[in-house]
Amino acid sequence: MKSNITIVELKKIDKYYHHAETTTRILRAVDLKIYSGESCAIMGASGSGKSTLMNIIGCLDRPSSGTYCLNGKAVEKLDDYQLAFIRNYQIGFVFQQFYLLPEMTALENVMLPMAYAGTPYITRFNRAILALQKVNLELQMHRYPHQLSGGQQQRVAIARAIVNEPLLLLADEPTGALDSHTGREIMEVFNALHRNGITIVIVTHDRKIAEACERIVHIHDGKIKYSVRT
Ligand code: ADP
Ligand code: MG
Repeated sequence: MKSNITIVELKKIDKYYHHAETTTRILRAVDLKIYSGESCAIMGASGSGKSTLMNIIGCLDRPSSGTYCLNGKAVEKLDDYQLAFIRNYQIGFVFQQFYLLPEMTALENVMLPMAYAGTPYITRFNRAILALQKVNLELQMHRYPHQLSGGQQQRVAIARAIVNEPLLLLADEPTGALDSHTGREIMEVFNALHRNGITIVIVTHDRKIAEACERIVHIHDGKIKYSVRT
């Protein structure tokens, strides 16, 4: 459930891309707040700036102007090392493509985000299993990605995204590569995580999936048009 604690606060965010002589404005004065415990869907036509916005929220990219406060910290003041720390420990990402390493089992893929921290093997192992249980995939944990269905691979990617218990889970069209039935199953996984307190932002084209969130933000030509409570 939504709380009064702000996790994400974007103010007047602009994003420009420069190509040769031309400058394209991709995001226009975006103001957005995400509260702890909230689930929020972002909808908009292809090319409207959804992924650009998600990449800024996830600290994969920096805005051209405007301010971004993440969990009380001004992101523009952080150096690349601090941003890398945030990406690794405070934000979980799920994409349309699952980006699993093919030569690693499901379990090894989920253990990977903890590999850089010097966490002992047994701790990494136990936490990965816990994450796999949360997405109902513990029985398949020793399988390789090619031995799993698309929906199962996305569950592994979700487990990997939550294994460090991030502040914020970001999913950019997580059901875009799946059939609609499997997409609904994946949405059930997100709903269960949200019920357990995770803050989630999901970009989707699927109205049913968006309506499963507490709020839908509509973006059009890089501008937030309106935000509705479902
Ligand atoms: P969406 O996710 O809503 O489909 P994107 O955020 O990916 O939209 O892209 C918004 C617009 O920004 C598109 O017109 C796209 O072509 C352009 N764009 C995205 N990334 C870049 C980039 N690195 N360089 C130039 N233009 C880009
Ligand atoms: Mg996109």
